[in-house]
This record gives sequence, C-alpha cells and structure tokens, in this order.
Amino acid sequence: MDREQFRKAGYAAIDRICDYFEELPERDVMPSVEPGDIGRQIPKSAPVEGEEWSTIAADFDKVILPGITHWQAPMFMAYFPANTTYESILADIYAGAVSNPGFNWLCSPACTELEVVQMDWVAQLLGLDESFHNASNVGGGIIMGSASESCLTVCIAARERALRLHPGTPFEQMVIVGTTQTHSLGAKAALILGLSFEAIETKEEDAWALRGEALRETLGRLKGEGKLPFALLATVGSTSTGAIDDIAEITAVAASYPELFIHVDAAWAGVMLALPEAREECHLDAINARSTAVNAAGGICASGEVHSFCTNLHKSGLVTFDASCLWVRDRKLLTEALDITPPFLRNKHTDTGLVVDYRNWQISLGRRFRSLKLYFVLRSYGISGFQAHLRNLISRAARLESLVLSSPNEFELFVPRRFSLVVLRLKASSPKNGEVEDKDANELNKKFFALTAERKDIHLTPTTVGGKYCTRIAIGSPFTKDEHIKKVWKVINELAEEAKGSQVE
Ligand code: PLP
Repeated sequence: MDREQFRKAGYAAIDRICDYFEELPERDVMPSVEPGDIGRQIPKSAPVEGEEWSTIAADFDKVILPGITHWQAPMFMAYFPANTTYESILADIYAGAVSNPGFNWLCSPACTELEVVQMDWVAQLLGLDESFHNASNVGGGIIMGSASESCLTVCIAARERALRLHPGTPFEQMVIVGTTQTHSLGAKAALILGLSFEAIETKEEDAWALRGEALRETLGRLKGEGKLPFALLATVGSTSTGAIDDIAEITAVAASYPELFIHVDAAWAGVMLALPEAREECHLDAINARSTAVNAAGGICASGEVHSFCTNLHKSGLVTFDASCLWVRDRKLLTEALDITPPFLRNKHTDTGLVVDYRNWQISLGRRFRSLKLYFVLRSYGISGFQAHLRNLISRAARLESLVLSSPNEFELFVPRRFSLVVLRLKASSPKNGEVEDKDANELNKKFFALTAERKDIHLTPTTVGGKYCTRIAIGSPFTKDEHIKKVWKVINELAEEAKGSQVE
C-alpha cells in the first residue's frame, strides 16, 4: 500500500467505523457462531503474493464482524465494560503511525513525558495523594496493559522488598495474601512467581469485604507456620459484587508487619474516585493516608500504608483497551526490583538518573504508546465530561436497581448496588427453609442464567458468592440509555417466568 492508497483506505475505514457505531444499537450483542466457524474462513497460511486492499478490507464485514461480541453495544452488561471512544481510536491511529516502543526516555521523549504527565492528570482526577504523583519524583505512575500485569509487577517489587528485610527466605515460605473475592490476578501472580496465595474467607455480614480482624488472624497464623506473608492484595470494587475491603483497618493491622506490601486493586471501581461523592465509599482517605511507622525496608516505603494502587481506564474510564494505570508510593520499589541495564541500553540521559526510563518500572522492555489515548480523552471530555459519563452509568444502574426492588416477590438484590453494578437473584416461588431453599433458589437461578446465555440480544455474567448463584449486570456502555434498561428488564422478567415455569414441570 502506498501513501495515497493509505489515505483513501483510511478515509474508508473511518466511514466504516462510523457506520458500525450507527448500526450498533440494532445489532445483536452476541455473535451467532459456533467454535471454529471463524477460523475455518481464514486461510491456513499467509498468501504468497500480496492481495488487493479492497479484498482484504472486505473481510472485516465478511469474516470478522460476524464473530464479534459487541462489547460497546448498549445491552452488553457482562463482566465489566471495556469502553472505547472516538478520541481513543484516533489516538491509537496516531500512535500506530509513529509506532514507538518508548522503553527509554531517549527512545521517545514525547511518549515518556506525556505518560509522566498523564499519570499525574489521572492521579489528580482520582484525588490520589501527591506522594503517588510523578511530580513528587519519589512516587509515580505508569500505564500497563492490564490490572493483572500491574499486580504481577508490584508482587515482584514486594518480594524484593521483603527479601531485603528477610534475606534468604525460601520462596516456599513467601505468601501473597488476598481474599476469596480477590480477582484471579492474585493467584496468577503467585503461580507465575512460584509462590503461594492465601485467600481469606470474607463474610456476608461484612458485605464480602476484608476486615482488619480477619487479616490479623491470618497473618498471625501464617507467621506461626513459619511463612512470610509479604504482599496483601486489597480490592476496591470486587469483580463478583463490587465489595470494598476496609483499607483503614487493613493498614492499621499491616503497621505491625514491616514486610507487608499493600497493593490496592481497583481495576473497575477506581475510576469512580473521579466523583467526589464516591470517595468515602472507596476509602480514599485510607488509601492516601501516610504511615508513621518506621521505614523498615531500607529506605523503601513505610509499613502500614498503601504502597500501590491500580485502576483500569479501559473499563469504565472511556479509554480504549488497554490502559491500566498503576501508581506506586516509591518508584524505587519498581526500579530496584526491575532495573537491568545492559551496555546497549545506556545513554547519557539514563546515566544522569534525571529521566524516567519506563523499562525499569515494568516487566517487558518495549511498551505501547498509550498515554496519547488518555491525553485525547481527558482533553476532549474534560473532568466534567468524564464525571458526567460515570454519573450516567450509575444512574442507569440505579434505575435497574429500582426495578429489581419494585418486584420483591420475584427478585432480590444479592448485595446493594455498587456504582454501576447490580447483582440480583430470583426468589424461589415456594420458599422453604434454610439449605433446601438455597438449593432450590440456586437451581432456579442457574436455569434463569442459562436462559439469558441463550439470548443474542443481551449478555450478562453469573457468579457464585457464599454458595449463592447470582447474576451480575454491569452497566458500562456510554450508549446504554434508559430504553435499554427497560428492554433488559423486560427480557429478565420473561426469562424469570420461563425459568420458574420449567422448575414447576
Ligand atoms: N481486578 C478486578 C477487580 C477485576 O474486576 C478485573 C477484571 O474484570 C481484573 C482485576 C482483571 O483486569 P485485567 O484484565 O486488566 O487484568
């Protein structure tokens, strides 16, 4: 393709994308394909001779779109959202043009410096303490590909920090601690690092959140067993129910455990901190609080405070996948664990130590130029536009919540709505007692969910918490309007009737 062909193809691509968004509300959310249907249409090997662009581009409609689950569709309410915006799409086009792996400042000063400043913009937007900002020159932020990558990276840093305090501790004794509600990123980080993961049981009366007492008991028990619990993964907005761990109680307990690094995974709910009215619910004060405990780990971060915080702008934060924002209280936590500088990566700027070389903050060397997406989105929406988007999601979910509450004989909220997440259960029509009722209700809820899963027009996600099977409805698309909430509610009611009918038979 030459430049003039690219110009033409590019205009056509933008036209096609605009049409896609126009068609989106009318499309089914789910594709009508079986496993292998798409793969079969794709040639087994690359062509020997290059093909015409028009033939290649036609495959977007012919082969790709029929196999797409439409995450941007207004009735996609599964998992958590993965917002996209025109501004982010444009940023990805520009970033693609300069295709820059920006691992050192010198590799691309603009990629690095824009990211440094954008991470401070977002930290300000969320109300994170200045000690997390890049401007502090001590703490700082970096954009990663996923919350799992952020978690793995800080677990490496936490392990190094703990080993400085307890040199020679065998890996078999090193434990990452979370709860039964921690995202699988915790168990995965432990798996990758060859360490173990301890999941503390959370309780219904604590709204499935981790409390200080349970943490104290677990840490005491692990220590008694000769283990070294060195990283705690606290969650603000758990995947199943939006549970928010008690950060103040956690940091208070952690103050007695100098080697315990605290990471807050707020992959989904963290962006809600952009709303002043959500900050208390998200424990922002406790996230920001500084510890007075002695700085035990050789100059790296005191114990009893949050050491790192992560949220994904690529969920409800209007930035196209991927943009996982990670901040640390002390950038040396990362660089002292991850800096390996072979001679070919040295340059005079790196040697001065005055520039940020993001390769030393992360696992890989090369990295995507993601900050342009943040810059375009935040400038175009402004803080007020960003907040309006979040309030819009919350108000749609509140509408759904009120519909659930208006049918107390049919449905119940499993937990109170958390921001834009509604978790519901169908009530069994002939209530019995205790375990029998739970079993019946679970069967009914499984049938109900199975019916929703057969639909192409909506997409929801099931979960099981405390032995109870529930359906999660996560509102996230900027395209979701009140009419879509009404439509989803109608479908839910029809399927609830059907599930109950089939249970009677
Ligand atoms: N943490 C929480 C609370 C999540 O809900 C999710 C995904 O939904 C993740 C982490 C994983 O995010 P990622 O796909 O960015 O690793």
